[in-house]
Amino acid sequence: MSKIHVFVFLLILVLSGCKEETAMSSMTGYGGVKLQLRSMNYEGLSEDVENASRAGGGYDTLFVSVCDESGLVLSSVKWNYDRNTSSLRLEGLHEGSYRLSVMGVRGDISRDGVRVNSLSRADEEWFSFPAKVAPLEAEYYYSSTPLEVTVSGGQEQVTTSEEIVQHPICSRLSFGFAFASTDVERMVVGRKVQLQGLSLASSLSASGEWSGYGEASDLELALDSVAAFRLPPLNPAVHAEGTVDVETRHFLGVRTRLEYPFVLESLKAGVSVPVMTKVVHPDDRQAAVYIASADFSEVHTSRILADDEPWQVYTDRSQRSFNTSNPLQAQITSEGKLHMRFYSPRGLGKVTVRALFPGKEEAVDVAYLDTVPPFVDLERELPLAERSALCRTASGRLVEWERMNPEEMAQAQISLHSDDPYWEKLGAIRHGWTIYWGLYGGDPTRPDGGPVGNWMGIRPVHCRESIALFLNFTYMIDTPEHEQILRENEDILYGNGGPTDRVTADKVLAQMRQSRTLCVGLVYSGNGVLGLGGGSTFGAYQQAWLQHYWNTYSCEIMFHELGHVMGYSHSSSFTYGPWAQQLMNNFYVTHLKDFPIDSPRYLESSSNATLYR
Ligand SMILES: [Zn+2]
Repeated sequence: MSKIHVFVFLLILVLSGCKEETAMSSMTGYGGVKLQLRSMNYEGLSEDVENASRAGGGYDTLFVSVCDESGLVLSSVKWNYDRNTSSLRLEGLHEGSYRLSVMGVRGDISRDGVRVNSLSRADEEWFSFPAKVAPLEAEYYYSSTPLEVTVSGGQEQVTTSEEIVQHPICSRLSFGFAFASTDVERMVVGRKVQLQGLSLASSLSASGEWSGYGEASDLELALDSVAAFRLPPLNPAVHAEGTVDVETRHFLGVRTRLEYPFVLESLKAGVSVPVMTKVVHPDDRQAAVYIASADFSEVHTSRILADDEPWQVYTDRSQRSFNTSNPLQAQITSEGKLHMRFYSPRGLGKVTVRALFPGKEEAVDVAYLDTVPPFVDLERELPLAERSALCRTASGRLVEWERMNPEEMAQAQISLHSDDPYWEKLGAIRHGWTIYWGLYGGDPTRPDGGPVGNWMGIRPVHCRESIALFLNFTYMIDTPEHEQILRENEDILYGNGGPTDRVTADKVLAQMRQSRTLCVGLVYSGNGVLGLGGGSTFGAYQQAWLQHYWNTYSCEIMFHELGHVMGYSHSSSFTYGPWAQQLMNNFYVTHLKDFPIDSPRYLESSSNATLYR
């Protein structure tokens, strides 16, 4: 017997010598034979899961069964498994023909409720899967390999290929989605699948046969985070059916539920079955773009007046300037893009952007924003510049419009709508002042700000604070409380002619509400000057910009200079008199809580690293 087997072995060796790739592995050696286990991916799956699994080492649990030619399971065979190399060593095999069955498991088999049975024959049930239909958490890889064992010189030798290739023994069901519109995709609030008529196998024999198909059951699976599931194979005699549900929630609150039925013809061992859903949604062709909060990651959004913005940009009036009654600038460019800039230390929630295009009777929605972050600078292409689109009018009608000429789109009148209380505050600023920034000869790139006269180089941190101050100031001048304090103190308001030069509350209000443009700078305090103002010039030293929220002296400086801007001299009550030093400075501080920028915490400028030290 022994001679014959050696001869057979040699013959096979010679035959296989013609084909190098099927090299014979007779992993020999002391203590049995060593076999390499290698797990393969699901059929029909393109991702390279195989590499990932190999990199992760071997299996968490291994089950081995060896039977002889008659199918009798041998209990005398010993084995051990090295997880690091995923190699299996068998001991105690005598000469003869065998079949080696191996089940490798990644994951926790106990969580799946799978029972492992002791075997006497290969056709018996080895693994019992639960009758309840549920996705499996662990991954099961199975192989069944013939082994011819010979013994030569006291050592066992086995003929098999170099590796034992294992395949997934369950089936994989995956769900994918194709959206016609990424905006619609981002409106998705829920996805699930409902499967009906699943009759799944529950019994796997050592020889790899599935049986024990259960009653047809239903299964509902959420597809929000996981979109692929492992299940035992489906009864080949039946089809299952399913419905993929997609639910969306439009920015305006409308919920839409879409159902996509499909037939599941098979779920075979080792095969991945993709179910692709092409989502057709009524909003696929909407004219409005949806800008989600997630779009404003640091990477993809630029901000105006950031600490590192070059002075050539922030002191260029054509690039950086705003009116306090219009801090959220929105326009359509001649390329048909929506361009928005927000001169605000505070963010704004949920904004609808509407455009009234020339020749059209009604404005239509062109953008929905979940949020408008502080100082954001964003640009988005509008579908109408590219193609026909379904427009939602201000009154809620849906109208189909042809593609528009971008140049024509650029002439649109834009209106902004938001329910955010902050938007209401900003909307109450009716008499806006225009603000831009100037260096007045200073050099912000120098550590000392490059003082020239009483000016030094303003930096973005100061520019941002000036936005806070002027939003608050121009908000203040239209409040009834402010009007009231002026009327109640009319007797202490006097002009450049001194205390007898009476100025009425109406006159002051008119001067404050007059439209003005200021070039804001940073005052160099080294010469004892803390503020500068007059005409279109306005400046304060650094500390006043940081403390206007709560420090009445800082406010006094601000209002003194505003008094100059309104045309008043040091002889009036508007500079070194009660208007600046008593009424306004105190009013500003005590009413800060009602103002648009009601706290220094939005800007946190006092801890900013770019302040002058
Ligand atoms: Zn002065």
